Amino acid sequence: MNKKIEIIKGDIIEFDVDVIVNAANNYLIGGSGVDGAIHFKAGKELDIACQKLNGCMTGEAKITPGFNLKAKYIIHTVAPKWYDTKLENKEELLRNCYINSYKVAKENNLKTIAFPCLGAGVYMVPIDISAKITINEALNNIDFFDKIILVCFKDDDYKCYNEYFNNLKF
Ligand code: ADP
Repeated sequence: MNKKIEIIKGDIIEFDVDVIVNAANNYLIGGSGVDGAIHFKAGKELDIACQKLNGCMTGEAKITPGFNLKAKYIIHTVAPKWYDTKLENKEELLRNCYINSYKVAKENNLKTIAFPCLGAGVYMVPIDISAKITINEALNNIDFFDKIILVCFKDDDYKCYNEYFNNLKF
C-alpha cells in the first residue's frame, strides 16, 4: 500500500493541507453539498474570487486562495452530471477533473492535497466508479506529492474506497 495516499472519513473543510479540491458547479457559484460547506467556511471573499474566474467547464480546474479555510488554496473542478443521460464520456470527464486538479496543484508547487469524492453526491457518480478513478489517478500522480488525502464523508463511501484500495496488487 502506498503510505502517501490516505483514505480518511471526515469533513474536508477542516483539513490543514496546501490545497483542497472543491466539487464545484459550472458557474462557480457556491451550491449545495461540499461546495456549500467550502464557500460558507472560506467566506465572502471566495465568492468574489470565483466571480472573476468566468466559470469552469466540466472536467477543468481553477484555483483560488483558501481565505478563511485552514487550506492555503482551493482548486475548483466540475464533475460530470452522471444523471444526464445525454452526456457522453462521463468516465473520461471525471478522470479529467483529477488530471487537471493535479496539474494545477503541481503548477503551483502544492504538495499536500485533499479531495472529496467528486461528483458522488448530487451529480450521482456511482461510488464504485468514483473509487476506481480517484484511486487510480492518485497512484498516477503520487510521485510529486507528499500526501494525497481522499476524504469520504459517508460511511459507505469510506468502505467502498478502502475495499478498492486494499484489493489492488502493488
Ligand atoms: P457533486 O455535485 O459533485 O456530486 P456533492 O457536494 O453533492 O457534489 O457531493 C460530492 C461528495 O462530497 C459526496 O460524496 C458527498 O458525500 C461529499 N461531501 C459532502 N460534504 C462534504 C464535506 N464537508 N467534506 C467532504 N465530503 C463532503
